[in-house]
Amino acid sequence: MEIAGAMPNVFEVTSQTTGVELIDGPVGGFPSHLLIQFEFVRKHKWIGIGGHGKEKQPPSHDFRAITVQLDYPGINVLQHGELCRTLIRETVMNNIVGLGQSMGIPLSHWDKAIPEDLDARIVELALDRPLDCAYRCEVNFTLNIEFGYCEAAALLQGCIMAPRECYICHDALTPGSNVMYLPDCTHAYHVDCIKQWFKKSTTCPVCREDYSRLIPDEYRLLGENMHANDGL
Ligand SMILES: [Zn+2]
Ligand SMILES: [Zn+2]
Repeated sequence: MEIAGAMPNVFEVTSQTTGVELIDGPVGGFPSHLLIQFEFVRKHKWIGIGGHGKEKQPPSHDFRAITVQLDYPGINVLQHGELCRTLIRETVMNNIVGLGQSMGIPLSHWDKAIPEDLDARIVELALDRPLDCAYRCEVNFTLNIEFGYCEAAALLQGCIMAPRECYICHDALTPGSNVMYLPDCTHAYHVDCIKQWFKKSTTCPVCREDYSRLIPDEYRLLGENMHANDGL
């Protein structure tokens, strides 16, 4: 069950291209490759309950350089924006996750880790280049990930996820099943369980709150009349 504002982890992922270069290699020389260089900046923001304990670690900066060899002819990947983007995204993602620094970033955020214009800039340089040469393509960018953790949202999430059970039969109360929250004390039961209980008692099984006052007047009168008639 997801409720807006209940996710304790908030991620902000941004990236900017700082340079793209395509260098020709000798024919039959080194295999074409992509050199992915990025500065990885991590920020942490922690927001505690009660306004206290606001903590901010200083941002950490890491520099990463990863070489990816491209299968011959290589340039075909660099001429294909989508292929190129996927390759860079997966390489960066595996590198960061491999370092145990994924921080639980949802998959949907990873595309933002690669600057929007990066693949178009590579394609622009790679178009019309002969297939039989080797190339070295250097891409440089910064990747900023801000990881925010909100304790209040974590508590809310915990309350939503907390297993609930019927106080009478101790089976789980699942949303959509027939659940009855008694009106004042809000103790929760299966409708069938509390129905059986009310055959014996007018009080809440947990807190003994007496609900006999909630019997609608017309039913109470009907009951009293029947008692009176019994006595005749
Ligand atoms: Zn029950
Ligand atoms: Zn109760």
